[in-house]
Amino acid sequence: MTLRVYQKKRKFSQTPEPKGGTPHRGKKLEFVIHKHRASRLHYDFRLEMGGVLKSWAVPKGPSLNPQDRHLAVMVEDHPFEYRKFEGIIPEGNYGAGEVIIWDKGWYEPRAELAKKDAEKELLKELKNGHLTLVMHGEKLKGEFALVRTSPSKNWLLIKKGDKFASENDITKKDASVKSGKTIEDLQKRNKNAKRWHAQ
Ligand code: MN
Repeated sequence: MTLRVYQKKRKFSQTPEPKGGTPHRGKKLEFVIHKHRASRLHYDFRLEMGGVLKSWAVPKGPSLNPQDRHLAVMVEDHPFEYRKFEGIIPEGNYGAGEVIIWDKGWYEPRAELAKKDAEKELLKELKNGHLTLVMHGEKLKGEFALVRTSPSKNWLLIKKGDKFASENDITKKDASVKSGKTIEDLQKRNKNAKRWHAQ
């Protein structure tokens, strides 16, 4: 696993994002979902796997409705430390704009396995293009699938029918689970916010 692409895209003298490289020794596999207003608003779905955060950009965000199939485009691995990142990426930098921690928690494969075996199973499922995830987040709970649609970077994020399935729009819960702030709260603080008005 490499963070080379991630690091190449960023100027760490300018962006507050972490450079990465510290391995995780926790007992559970963690996940984070960022809400990120870059040139377009999207959600970044990030799963700890193999020492990094495997990452997908989900334009519509997650849905609790098993009828929905939301596009999730696989992007470069992010460092594990990125799970704690919330803030403003300055103008002129890759992904410039506001980022909040929309959801966080831990996750596991469908089968109950110890962390090491769980990770092995998930890496196998990732390679096969069909991940089954049981999410233990503050907003997302229960079973989800990430399914690759073709030999490409396009995957689909799908909620499985269980007691956590719902037709309610979960993205209406728009505050950070870390700070309680919304993207709009950060935007007000962002002195470069003018460019959003120009769009
Ligand atoms: Mn993003």
